[in-house]
Amino acid sequence: MSEFVKNLMAQVKAKNPSEPEFHQAVFEVASSLALVLEKHPEYRKEKILERIIEPERIILFRVPWVNDQGDVQINRGFRIEMNSAIGPYKGGLRFHPSVNLGILKFLAFEQVFKNSLTTLPMGGGKGGSDFDPKGKSDGEVMRFCQSFMSELFRHIGSNTDVPAGDIGVGGREIGFLFGQYKKLRNEFTGVLTGKGLNWGGSLIRPEATGYGAVYFAAEMLGTRNQTMEGKKCLVSGSGNVAQYTVEKILQLGGKVLTLSDSNGYIYDEAGITTEKLQYVMDLKNVRRGRIKDYIDKFKGAVYTQLDPNTDSNQLWNHKADCAFPSATQNEINSKDAANLLKNGVYVVSEGANMPSTIEAIEQFVNAKILYGPGKAANAGGVATSGLEMAQNSMRYSWTREEVDNRLRLIMKSIHKTCVDIAEKYDTPYNYVNGANIGGFVKVADAMLDQGIV
Ligand code: NDP
Repeated sequence: MSEFVKNLMAQVKAKNPSEPEFHQAVFEVASSLALVLEKHPEYRKEKILERIIEPERIILFRVPWVNDQGDVQINRGFRIEMNSAIGPYKGGLRFHPSVNLGILKFLAFEQVFKNSLTTLPMGGGKGGSDFDPKGKSDGEVMRFCQSFMSELFRHIGSNTDVPAGDIGVGGREIGFLFGQYKKLRNEFTGVLTGKGLNWGGSLIRPEATGYGAVYFAAEMLGTRNQTMEGKKCLVSGSGNVAQYTVEKILQLGGKVLTLSDSNGYIYDEAGITTEKLQYVMDLKNVRRGRIKDYIDKFKGAVYTQLDPNTDSNQLWNHKADCAFPSATQNEINSKDAANLLKNGVYVVSEGANMPSTIEAIEQFVNAKILYGPGKAANAGGVATSGLEMAQNSMRYSWTREEVDNRLRLIMKSIHKTCVDIAEKYDTPYNYVNGANIGGFVKVADAMLDQGIV
């Protein structure tokens, strides 16, 4: 570890105690940036990275609501406005009981570099609440969303900060949030992305993160003159990103063996087909059930309950070619990474944000497999949110083909940026360095231009 990174991390830890995920995200980026900071003393002098690490603004608020039994509930709401050097703050909202300041700061920090990589003019932000939508009625979710927006509305706007979905925030929640924003502001603007198609949403936005992660994997495979055809794939999660990852893998001729949720995973030796995927979409998006139900419907599949007392996740211990972690942060630890490599996996394309620990990443990079870090591989979601913003500004809608083509081109361009930059800094095919440096330079140069603000 360079002296610069060591000193920086000591400061970050002292100033942001009890935020291990934020420390992890900063460490990963800073380790790559040591290469570029050596060559650009102006970035050091102007303390660009130190400034990016400090959020421009954090909004923290009370979210009171009443459940179906008439009991008062209190959750905590957050919005981290991390960096607006290249555009309005942009990033999702996460509703999950594990949400805290450190997790949202790590997500907002990652978002700054990811949004820059997309080539679109979007700054970085993230927000959410420790509210758990699981097991809540639609009425409870609506009342929570309305209370959440009753505070958030004064801080966001189509030219200021444009939130979207993330874990626990899908089409239903975006609808309730948008309705309340519109009522309070008395205006119909593109203040949120992921909207319904008949009220300002973009075609392909629901599919975009998963599709993009598979396009990115296909681009990485292309560097070895290979395609997704016939590739055996492990996918984790069963939410938005996982579902459309599976759909695109199937369209490109690959085979999907696994899906999971926070209770366990299913392994389907015969492969998850389009028909089986339709069942999962209905199970998860409409009936809001558990992935375990899959084995009652499809008899050849096996369900394994997650054991919190073991040091590895058996989902990552099957023979395969590709892995698409699409659930949550740190779902692949050092032992899981070793299992993946042992089982022949040589493509990892991260749909989730920071799903691999620092030790797991080190193993992937040292093994020289095709490892696409989340801020590059899953940038298709926010990129298509950017396309939704563009369509909203024009009051016009592009066709499915048009948005999908743009998404594909953006993923191609992100891939090229990663490869070119990794090469430029003498670390060929190191997508971690490529993504971190590629995302940083555009933001850093904008900050230099805009002075000390
Ligand atoms: P969803 O809420 O739609 O799905 C999340 C899935 O991950 C569910 O299957 C959920 O299981 C599982 N999961 C959540 N937390 C955990 C946990 N602690 N342990 C194990 N499984 C867990 O979210 P998305 O699909 O939108 O998001 C998935 C990942 O992709 C996140 O890391 C998110 O930040 C990232 N991402 C999402 C984007 C988007 O456009 N939606 C864009 C870029 C990145 P359960 O139902 O049991 O909770």
